[in-house]
Amino acid sequence: MSRSLREIDDLVILGRGAPDELKDGRVAVCVAGWSRTLGFVRVYPTRLSSPLKQWSVVSVQVEKNPSDSRSESWKIVGSASEWDRLDRNIRVIGTLDREGRTALIPTLVSGCVSDLNDAHTSLGIVRPSAIRGYLSPREDVVHSVQTTLLGGSLPRTKVNYAMRPRVVYRCSACQSQQEHDQQIIEIGCYEWFRKNPGKEQQVFENLRLGDPNYEKFLLVGNQANHRTSYIVIGVIRWKK
Ligand SMILES: [Zn+2]
Repeated sequence: MSRSLREIDDLVILGRGAPDELKDGRVAVCVAGWSRTLGFVRVYPTRLSSPLKQWSVVSVQVEKNPSDSRSESWKIVGSASEWDRLDRNIRVIGTLDREGRTALIPTLVSGCVSDLNDAHTSLGIVRPSAIRGYLSPREDVVHSVQTTLLGGSLPRTKVNYAMRPRVVYRCSACQSQQEHDQQIIEIGCYEWFRKNPGKEQQVFENLRLGDPNYEKFLLVGNQANHRTSYIVIGVIRWKK
């Protein structure tokens, strides 16, 4: 029986979300990328330690995830049975250099998040204008941080933080009545929170949101259970 196995050998990693905890306790990260042959690709779950870092070009064997019908969604073959050695199933081929990034990203831009929604596309890139960020209190914060047998603590997940970062913006050809106001889950934001408690507000400076010297694009995706609701997976940025 076909499990829709597929080798993607040209996957450019565009962004990674902050970790989530699966029901079985695995701490998992959602990765989004672009393949010339497949288009936008979501890989989930992946390990926090995986080599799927932004701008890496990788080869990975994937299969469809029966619990996620979005056409862009895939999981790494063996992601359940071989979780501890899953990174062995990923081969890093190279890194997209600055020239490659600045050539590729503008070709992937949609005019507005609404266009992605209308096309039932679960991943895309928009070019924001007048973008700003704010911190929003999380109502379902989980205060317990699991400790391992050896006494270390597992990487914290989004729900362990009292705040979540959000961004407000217009797209380059915005169709929306109001400005978009979306949660941003970029792993770097939450890593900053983890390492710099009390300096959460600085996360927006780190993203260069107000810096005119940086070119900025938003990698956006919808949520498996809320297909019309989009979040920002990452701010793709480089110095002009
Ligand atoms: Zn828009």
